[in-house]
Amino acid sequence: MHSEPLVFLVGAGPGNPGYLTLRAVECLARADLVLYDKLVSPQMLEHAPPEAARICVTELAERHLERYLPIHKTLLDAAREGKRVVRLKGGDPFLFGRGGEEAEMLHAAGIPYEVVPGVTAALGAAACTGIPLTHRVHASAVAFVTGHENPAKPESALDWAALARFPGTLAIYMGMSRLAGIMQALLAHGKPADTPAAVVQRATTGEQQTVQAPLAEIASAAQAAGLSAPAITIIGSVVSLRAHLAWFEQRPLFGKRVLVTRPRRQASDMVRRLEELGAVVFVLPAVEILAPADWGPVDRAIERLSAYQWLVFTSVNGVQGFLGRLRHLGRDLRALGGIKLAAIGPGTAEALERYYLKADLVPAVYDSEHLAASLLPRVTGQRVLLARANRGRELLREELARVAEVDQVAVYTQQDALPPDHEVLDALRRGEIEFVTITSSNIARALAALLDAPTRGRLQSGDVKLISISRVTSDAIRALGLPVAAEAREATAEGVVEAIITLA
Ligand code: SAH
Repeated sequence: MHSEPLVFLVGAGPGNPGYLTLRAVECLARADLVLYDKLVSPQMLEHAPPEAARICVTELAERHLERYLPIHKTLLDAAREGKRVVRLKGGDPFLFGRGGEEAEMLHAAGIPYEVVPGVTAALGAAACTGIPLTHRVHASAVAFVTGHENPAKPESALDWAALARFPGTLAIYMGMSRLAGIMQALLAHGKPADTPAAVVQRATTGEQQTVQAPLAEIASAAQAAGLSAPAITIIGSVVSLRAHLAWFEQRPLFGKRVLVTRPRRQASDMVRRLEELGAVVFVLPAVEILAPADWGPVDRAIERLSAYQWLVFTSVNGVQGFLGRLRHLGRDLRALGGIKLAAIGPGTAEALERYYLKADLVPAVYDSEHLAASLLPRVTGQRVLLARANRGRELLREELARVAEVDQVAVYTQQDALPPDHEVLDALRRGEIEFVTITSSNIARALAALLDAPTRGRLQSGDVKLISISRVTSDAIRALGLPVAAEAREATAEGVVEAIITLA
């Protein structure tokens, strides 16, 4: 009888969360337990359901003499209880990952399993350093080699003489501590001293670092640059092609460390964009978004919606809050009837689009002043509903109230986020973060409240640069006694990203 697999030996790839396979994501999405290696990025674990247990096996192993026993035991115990277990392993499970041993163990225990391949480190490093492992002119073969063994020991299972003669590219996993010895062994067996070589640390991530040198010098060059595990060494004339193909390291924000302070739910677009450009992104939500304390005024406004000619949104959260409540009350889009919709900017208009609604008005400049100015001539003598946060500027209401009847309702509550993530604050204090995005005045104030004197000092000296989304936000930052390093030309997430690029 065929039985469904209970254990999934899944390759997580070399670190970049985008290099997970679709099958890996499917397996994670249905997991009861995820047993992951230390090098697996936390972003990957987000594909697992919130209620799934997550255990770092590197820590399990460290606490035990027989390193792999506790991992195997945890795996088998969970599977025997009928849990779906994802064993998430760096790179590919069947390449230097002991996946073979785990599969044998599962076979012996009679537990059905599935193996999901992953992007192995050599392939990730090759793509992201611009080193094609094979090339019509340079190499027709490639060998994946473990550098785990000491080449000086006679019992080494590797034939270094054969590897020195290997007619193609060598990709050597592990063995950073043995790098000098391995290079020595290859040289001693006749590999030319000027063979191009590269050591790649943390390939495929924003922390990727590459050192390139001829074979005879690569070990000392890597040491001088302070490279450490995980790193992979690639040897062969293909390495020289990197000069023209280093697309990954040439991205505009490669290696730049950027802090995004938006509420978590809203941060993801900006995080993805920054990562695509090569940045290492931290998230510290300075404010959070909650339901309003009292829905009463919103519900009453929805009751008499047909009395309004205009409905005005000044944020994505406003759109979601208002339309979510409409639905909660058992109504649908027809309740909006002929009411006209205004959005403060393209992000808000896009949020409306997701509900198949088109904004009738978006000002040319995305702030309250311009929204008020473009609405004023159109709302005279009419009734206007503003759906917004519990706090914020009163400018829009005050301006429009000169000519129209204006009601303002809080469709969401914004409050300063507590408790803050101390790891991120520590990184900020140590000067490990170069750019901090500030996407509203409230975020500026909430963040400032979290800063101690040394961190403020870093901001004031320009070690850490504040990037503001708009003039209003810049004013709020300066009012807090902090400098603004750059301001977005356009008040959007993309505008903020572009402002960082101009400084990077
Ligand atoms: N199964 C994994 C290899 C595990 S052995 C795979 O297929 O990639 C661990 C070694 O892989 C490390 O010592 C290092 O040599 C290499 N490695 C893993 N991730 C890496 C990365 N992001 N950058 C460089 N090397 C990496």
